[in-house]
Amino acid sequence: MAKIELKNVTKSYGGLQVIKGIDLEIRKGEFMVFVGPSGCGKSTLLRLVSGLEEITTGDMLFDGQRVNDLVPSDRGIAMVFQSYALYPHMKVYDNMAFGMKLAKAGKPEIDRRVREAARLLQIEHLLDRLPKQLSGGQRQRVAIGRAIVRDPRVFLFDEPLSNLDAALRVQTRLEIARLHHGMQDVTMIYVTHDQVEAMTLADRIAVLRDGKLEQVGTPAELYERPNSTFVAGFIGSPK
Ligand code: ADP
Ligand code: MG
Repeated sequence: MAKIELKNVTKSYGGLQVIKGIDLEIRKGEFMVFVGPSGCGKSTLLRLVSGLEEITTGDMLFDGQRVNDLVPSDRGIAMVFQSYALYPHMKVYDNMAFGMKLAKAGKPEIDRRVREAARLLQIEHLLDRLPKQLSGGQRQRVAIGRAIVRDPRVFLFDEPLSNLDAALRVQTRLEIARLHHGMQDVTMIYVTHDQVEAMTLADRIAVLRDGKLEQVGTPAELYERPNSTFVAGFIGSPK
């Protein structure tokens, strides 16, 4: 439910600047997709938004409030990674409930939220299983469910489908789109290097190149009016 503003954000590791001054506003409820070649800074940018890493210079605002110094749990953000990292010894239910238990939520509230998320993702029948008894696609849905349970205002996805086979990628992508439509005002930032994912999921796409924004626009804008051959190469239009 947040508007996110990045103002001249940079990130350096030691002497090496990898995010080189990003200005970007992401609207409340928007589905924003970051694309760009390997190493251009997509994951770093997500970690900066999440608070897993500190920005070096610049400002980050959520709904007008400066969040530079807020830890991840205070930002109302949930992240879904490419490797779903479920706890192997915990049943699906407990994997999904874990974050809320840490936050000291009451049992009835946890139960309600876990079941609601499971229903949304159609994994109610899997709640008693262990991760090793699930397919890759089911595991990724559990990882998404674990994020939903925490009722975040922003979802961050870092190449969530890249470990899935082609058929599962399509299915899970459709589920993420459905999820976005079902959760009014929840902002999503999604990293991918897959053009089809970017074109079909995004309200807007931000093309990153070497730590800078090359172009930001709707899929149609980028397709019809790429401002460089670099963007055209990523979006697939001839130029
Ligand atoms: P992408 O996700 O687009 O592939 P990354 O954000 O992972 O790119 O990386 C961007 C650049 O920052 C790369 O050159 C990478 O080597 C560097 N980098 C990322 N994380 C670290 C880190 N913890 N320490 C040093 N350099 C890093
Ligand atoms: Mg990455």
